[in-house]
Amino acid sequence: MFFKITSAFTCGVELECLRCGREIVDSLLCIKCADELFDDSPLWFCPSMLIGDNAITLLRKNANILLLIGPTADGNTIHLDGMKVEEQVNKIVAGEEDYKKAASLFNRIMIHLGVPLEMNDETNMKFSNDDIEQLTSIIKKIEEFEEKEEMEDMGCISTYIRIGNLFWIAGMNNILDAAGESWAENKKKYCFEKALKYYDRSLHMKEREAEKEKYHQIALKNKALLLQMLGRYKDSSPYINQLLKTHPKDHLLWNCKGLIFYHSREYDNAVKCYDRALEIDDKKAKVWKNKADALVKNDDLKAALKCYNTSLELKSEYIDALIAKGDVLAKLGDVDEAIQCYDAAEAIRMDLKKKNIKSKKRG
Ligand SMILES: [Zn+2]
Repeated sequence: MFFKITSAFTCGVELECLRCGREIVDSLLCIKCADELFDDSPLWFCPSMLIGDNAITLLRKNANILLLIGPTADGNTIHLDGMKVEEQVNKIVAGEEDYKKAASLFNRIMIHLGVPLEMNDETNMKFSNDDIEQLTSIIKKIEEFEEKEEMEDMGCISTYIRIGNLFWIAGMNNILDAAGESWAENKKKYCFEKALKYYDRSLHMKEREAEKEKYHQIALKNKALLLQMLGRYKDSSPYINQLLKTHPKDHLLWNCKGLIFYHSREYDNAVKCYDRALEIDDKKAKVWKNKADALVKNDDLKAALKCYNTSLELKSEYIDALIAKGDVLAKLGDVDEAIQCYDAAEAIRMDLKKKNIKSKKRG
């Protein structure tokens, strides 16, 4: 069952659960109802946000032509056999051939939606309801078929990565707030775990020929980044180290390695890694902030302050950096300036809340 959230949120106001009338605060559903309505699919998490023709509508309208989508690994054009996407999805019943078709259809839709294979911690995309509905039903069919036939894998590594990416994006979506923060946190974790499962599946695929190796690396990186987002720094460590052997110029990986050291309280080593990342790209506000955090732990407050300032020059509305800078200023005895930082952070946070409500109202 699928419950579509259509109303806007209010802040700090007591409300009644839309479904059962139980009193709740700052959400639309009580946890009990949210759990009952919860559907094990990314559909639940993705509100319709696109206006006008979405990728599926376009595909449907142009179903009889060759579509230029390239350049991709599979070539530049794809022929759609003159069949609507919905029909194609419905036609997937059973049998190995259909299963492979489902995998390629899923890939095709994701490519049209512009979902990258390689994720980073800033990837967040919006889909239309229609897009997600089709993608979700394809995932369901793939899963049902795998369960029934006890297939080990569908032989399409990029599809597994993309399903993982879809769950990752779903986990990032703020519609999760529907039943309040703690529920949202749990379900976010749930989506991320699903994504990890799919990355693992692509990593464990039997086919490991040379051309699969590229996908293998992508799955490995996505997995490592997601583990870090889940706070599992130690678990991400072997993957980050493995990836750095082949990608020593990847600033994102050096930042990840810095975070691993930071969370195991090796602050000097963390700073060294952040410096490596900044040597490659010194325009990353997040890395400057991370370096500053490590310097604070080492009681090097003046150096930390400089790094926070650089971070904020690159991204003035960086709430975490503003608050951390305020903390350092307070420790240095500069109370007035510290308060200014906290005020600025609070103003940005409230502004974001307002924008959020407005966008939900439109959705
Ligand atoms: Zn309820």
